[in-house]
Amino acid sequence: MNGDRWIFFDCDSTLSAIEGVDELARMRPDSVFAEVKRLTDQAMNGEIPIDSVFGRRLSVIRPHEEECARIGQAYIDQIEPTALETLGRLRELGWTVAIISGGFLPAIRPFAQFLGIEEIHAVDLYFAADGSYVGFDEAHPNARNGGKPDLIRALRAERGFQKAVMVGDGVSDLETKSAVELFIGYGGFVAREKVQAGAEKFVNRLADVVGMI
Ligand SMILES: [Mg+2]
Repeated sequence: MNGDRWIFFDCDSTLSAIEGVDELARMRPDSVFAEVKRLTDQAMNGEIPIDSVFGRRLSVIRPHEEECARIGQAYIDQIEPTALETLGRLRELGWTVAIISGGFLPAIRPFAQFLGIEEIHAVDLYFAADGSYVGFDEAHPNARNGGKPDLIRALRAERGFQKAVMVGDGVSDLETKSAVELFIGYGGFVAREKVQAGAEKFVNRLADVVGMI
């Protein structure tokens, strides 16, 4: 039955090769980029909590609205090579496709539109009238560890799907294991040891997901 089965994809280093926050930091001096990249890696490897870096990275970068739009294009330019065909196939099979990401909604939205995905769960950013950075949605579950499984449980209660699959590269994705019927680790861009060890299945191409679910 349509709407009965949902598949959630992480965005950064899964649907696209880039980490949006790192690309925003690349627009700043080298020292800022190095610091942000280090924090992102540590958080995605589960070495430090996400909420300890979330606001910190943003307050150093202070991304402009227009810069977020540029990241949206970068996601598209560096899309996972099999992503489009995979999503098409999943829809044919009756799956509802969603993005669940600790990335930034204004940057991910254009990419999601490109992918034809309407269900986007990512952290919103706030801008002043001139586009300068004001803050982020601090209450969003994806801005902390344990947020993604909480969100999937809430969506299941609200939307009533029977089966949920999660695909992602990070430790925050692996955390959803208790909230989904199947967690598939993705290592096409970065193969993280903890995720590979904890995942029930592991793929290096998104296209391989289709035969596993
Ligand atoms: Mg990721």
